[in-house]
Amino acid sequence: MTDAPLIIAIDGPAAAGKGTLARELADRLDLAFLDTGALYRAVGVLVLDAGQDPADEQAAIKAAETLKSKISPETLKNPALRDHKTGAAASKVAQYDSVRRILRDLQTDFAINPPDGKGGAVLDGRDIGTVICPNAPVKFYVTASIEARADRRFKELQNKGGAATYEAVLEEMRIRDARDSERSVSPLRPADDAYVIDTSDLSADQVLNMALAKIKARTSL
Ligand code: C5P
Repeated sequence: MTDAPLIIAIDGPAAAGKGTLARELADRLDLAFLDTGALYRAVGVLVLDAGQDPADEQAAIKAAETLKSKISPETLKNPALRDHKTGAAASKVAQYDSVRRILRDLQTDFAINPPDGKGGAVLDGRDIGTVICPNAPVKFYVTASIEARADRRFKELQNKGGAATYEAVLEEMRIRDARDSERSVSPLRPADDAYVIDTSDLSADQVLNMALAKIKARTSL
């Protein structure tokens, strides 16, 4: 019998550094990696491309079904997923339980049967430790002050030549945080057994080392 895959669940609000940590952990520990936000972003892009409103539940369901039927690793590399407006569209489609259910199997399948023969998977999102992989042996909740997160997102956008002001980025982040934390289905919150890391004053390396130490303490790695 082969060992059960090692699942590492990482949740947290936008721009807290969870994606960076998830990628680095997957790399270091030779695990598969799934950015589950990219699934919601891909649904958001499909709705916007069809000229529809991401807050329209029927349009969002149709897009989620389309994504599920034709998903490939390339789908999740589409640069449009990273567009500024896509994050807001993603958080609108993500409010619906109907949409979340369609995307749930994709995520659990990935965790249980990691691709490329990997021995486990790192998943990052909003509800990985609470809903998607509640039995994951290691869970992190990566957060930071809203000012630190808005500052990071603002700098990223500036580097891409974006014209948004810091104030506009901060306001948008407040709206997205509220929508993600206050929705009735799978709201953003730390799992009871998650290890919380506040990255406001930490470098990516410091965060990685804290997480590696925790993984060592909780698993046989
Ligand atoms: O993580 P990212 O910012 O790319 O996610 C975009 C949006 O997708 C989030 O604001 C959230 O509303 C939604 N999401 C979610 N559950 C996940 C991952 C993302 O609801 N597991």
